[in-house]
Formats: sequence, structure tokens, C-alpha cells
Amino acid sequence: MNPYDDFLPPLFVGSVVFLTGLIVGSFLNVCIYRLPRERSVVFPPSACPNCDHPLSWFDNIPVVSWLWLRGRCRYCSAPISSLYPLVEMITGIFFFAVWWQNPDIRVFPFFFLVTAGLIVATFIDFFHYIIPDEITLGGVAVGLIVAFCFPEVIRAETHLSGLLRSVAGIVLGGGGLFLVAIAGTALFKKEAMGMGDVKLLAAVGAFLGPAAPLFALVVGSVVGSIVGLILLLFRKARRDTAIPFGPYLALGAYLYMLCGPAIIQAYLAYTLSSTP
Ligand SMILES: [Zn+2]
Repeated sequence: MNPYDDFLPPLFVGSVVFLTGLIVGSFLNVCIYRLPRERSVVFPPSACPNCDHPLSWFDNIPVVSWLWLRGRCRYCSAPISSLYPLVEMITGIFFFAVWWQNPDIRVFPFFFLVTAGLIVATFIDFFHYIIPDEITLGGVAVGLIVAFCFPEVIRAETHLSGLLRSVAGIVLGGGGLFLVAIAGTALFKKEAMGMGDVKLLAAVGAFLGPAAPLFALVVGSVVGSIVGLILLLFRKARRDTAIPFGPYLALGAYLYMLCGPAIIQAYLAYTLSSTP
């Protein structure tokens, strides 16, 4: 199913995938900076946030420019956040892992799209405690279209079943978690899970099907609890510190693309076989 396998060595394809991730990561930095500020992600071109000097192409080479300039603006010497090369590296590595686990060329380009959305959602939620509707509701719309046009992405055989799986993902995922959010708010008298989280999981369901939001919720809760405990132990956080849940859900959704169906299958096989 991989036409490139016959004539391109995997090392070459892997390098192209990684470099693509670095370049996409550079654009994700723009989205992370501008989306919460309600600014266009395409215009104007990148400029230094301190001196507004427009950046030329050689200031914009992912990771390399930042290292070359030792993390400072070429024009005003203001420090440039290490977040920029970090996001680029994460995108490169995450793209590579997605391709490694899903080498089917009909699938991995769309998983790149989901990965990009999850990375943007993660960093915006981390800094601003919101997940923009452009990512979540936009993701629901695009996910529906992709599931219908390219049903392999959502592990469906036909266009119609792809669309139905996507709708099931939105309804069972997003809708079910909407109920969890309401119940959590009623139980704990405060918002346990924000509507941004619910919409994010609806988008995950739209792209990846009904099992993915549940997988993301379970994995996200486990990882989130472990991190929360560690922070408590080191007294970095108080019990009531607001920690955004979105990044953990995004991590869970990302792990679903790497190994979710295999883990769920192994879990079902184990539980069903041990039933008396
Ligand atoms: Zn500057």
C-alpha cells in the first residue's frame, strides 16, 4: 500500500517527514502566537515581537536560525523564546513517529494534520487556558469531510461508513464527554472539564472515530494525575491550582494515532479471554 517503498529508501522518506515537521512546526509557532490574539495566521509575515522588524527567510529556518543567532533577534538583540525551536523539534519528532507507526500514504498525511492541530491546541491551552474554536470546531468540520472522502483514515471501508464513524465519534466522544463535564461541574461545584476540552474531543472523534476520544480521556486522566501528583510532591502546585486538561487530552489523542487500536484490541482480547 506504499508506492514509495519500492523506489525510495525509508531513511530518505523518514528524513523528508522530519524536515516537513520542522517546517510545519515553524508555521504552528505563528498559530500559537496569533490565534489567541485573534490575528490572522497568514498576514502580515513574521516579524520580531519586540522591534517589529520583518524576518527574512534566513531568520526563519526552523531550529537552525534560533541556534545560529543564539536565541536573539538579529536586529534588536532581544531574546527570542526557546519555545520556537522547541515547538519545531516536537513537530518534527511527532510527525516522524506518526509516519513510522502509520506508513500508509493514504493515512499519515491526515494524521499529520491532526498532530498539528493537537500541538497548537496544547500550547495555546497551556498559556491561555482556552482552545480556539478554529482548532476544535474547525477540526470537527474538516474531520467529517476527511472521513467521507478518505475513509481509510478513520478505518472505514466505504465513504458512507467513514462519515457514520465520524458522526459517531463526534456524538459519542464530544456528546458523552459533555455529560461528563456537566456531571463533574455538579459534583465538584467547579468546572472539572471546560467546553474547550469537550469540543477538542469532538474533533478527535470526527477524525479518528468513536474509540479515540474515550482512549484520549483515559490516557489523559492517568498522565494528568501522575503529573499532578509529582507537582504536588515537589510543592510546585497547590491542590486547587488550575492545570489545563487540554494538553493531556491532546497527548492521549496523539498516542491513539501511534498505538490506540492495537492497545484497545489487546485489552479486549485479554478481558474477554479471562471472563469465565
Ligand atoms: Zn527584534
